[in-house]
Amino acid sequence: AEGRSRYVLFTPSMDEDVRLREATDRELRQALADCDAQLRLHYQPIFSTSDGSLTGVEALLRWEHPENGLVTPDAFIRAAEESGLIEVLGQWVLRRAALDARNWPGLRVAVNVSPIQVRSHNFTETVREILAESGLEAERLEIEITETALMAASSEVAASLRELRQMGVACALDDFGTGYSSLSHIRDIAVDRIKIDRSFVQVVNTEAGAALVEAIVGLASANGLRLTAEGVENRDQYAFLGRVGCHEVQGYLFARPVPADQIARMLEEKLCV
Ligand code: C2E
Ligand code: CA
Ligand code: CA
Ligand code: CA
Repeated sequence: AEGRSRYVLFTPSMDEDVRLREATDRELRQALADCDAQLRLHYQPIFSTSDGSLTGVEALLRWEHPENGLVTPDAFIRAAEESGLIEVLGQWVLRRAALDARNWPGLRVAVNVSPIQVRSHNFTETVREILAESGLEAERLEIEITETALMAASSEVAASLRELRQMGVACALDDFGTGYSSLSHIRDIAVDRIKIDRSFVQVVNTEAGAALVEAIVGLASANGLRLTAEGVENRDQYAFLGRVGCHEVQGYLFARPVPADQIARMLEEKLCV
């Protein structure tokens, strides 16, 4: 079908992909029927560059699959978005994170949300309910939405984010620098924080990479935005980010995503980096 002198391999793994997708949808439904049994949130600590203290955590979803073990979100978030299951899934994540965060006085908890979830008509109401129900202060909750998702999304999403902000919930632009947004969006959209994508952190040892990150820091500070760098994996990256004025850091150098009880322990021990 691809034409003369050309061939395309159909490998068993492609076949498996299809099967995995089908299974994922059905199994995800089962997982959602009993969320607390199969879904887990891990939390990755976020630290201040000014004093090394623990300032927040990012909730990262894990699926304890009955046969496949721990599945990371990249393998099923898309499927959940396409099937519409993301709404229920996203609500579970928000509620679980809010409940867990009650045990961590003063700590900010960041939750990733899908634009499809934000667009569902009762999203801001749900957030309000979860805050009321859990007793979590709105100021301690932060919603992370990817740059690409935000730019592709409608003005409804922007309106929801504004409403959340009025409630005191902060909003972070995730994976900053990887999308196709025009910089003027930063000014127009109600975000409080920029998360510098890992791909930029990885190249700060090059002249061009360093210049890019410095430009992002300048842009953020000129607009009064907070900055977190993600995917920090070595000391040189950390030193550079602190030097140029990035406020917070997150990455394997400091801590991997861990179960909730370990966050409580880190707080007790006043863990610093
Ligand atoms: P993200 O929001 O950009 O999250 C950061 C990802 O980078 C996480 O992968 C984290 O484990 C990983 N990471 C953290 N530090 C390092 C590092 O130093 N080096 C490297 N190589 N990686 C690091 P994870 O947990 O697999 O999550 C993947 C993506 O899935 C997330 O990317 C986020 O977009 C999405 N996701 C996770 N949880 C949720 C959720 O509850 N809802 C939605 N809608 N999406 C979620
Ligand atoms: Ca994120
Ligand atoms: Ca990110
Ligand atoms: Ca990402």
